Amino acid sequence: MYTASCLCGAIQLKINTEISKVFVCHCQQCQKAQGSAFVAISVVRAQDFEVLSGQEHFGEYYASANKKRVFCKTCASPLYSARLDLPDIIRLRVGIINEPLNAEIASHAFTHEKAVWFEILDDHPKFPKAVC
Ligand SMILES: [Zn+2]
Ligand SMILES: [Zn+2]
Repeated sequence: MYTASCLCGAIQLKINTEISKVFVCHCQQCQKAQGSAFVAISVVRAQDFEVLSGQEHFGEYYASANKKRVFCKTCASPLYSARLDLPDIIRLRVGIINEPLNAEIASHAFTHEKAVWFEILDDHPKFPKAVC
């Protein structure tokens, strides 16, 4: 079980499950959405994702028709993404978790779009393309 919050603290969340795997996506959409080389996410069941406060600060952006990217409208922290055809799961941005996360990288996706300056130094599976 974890708590999570955005940068400004308006949004307070509770994740009612263990998180053991982190998936890294290097696609260009995730690079832009994070302003960084990649996004690090964990797949969480929607029923395990609890909003304690700040629901009114949620903003949504659709870079793809089937997937919303949810963020804090005040501080712009990315919170999660969710596919419309998979309403039971969310892809939580693990950087918003407050506690130390005892998890391992499971894989790297979209490595063919990877930032040139970023070198993947671990041996976890790499997929040139994958759902992110
Ligand atoms: Zn915020
Ligand atoms: Zn991606």
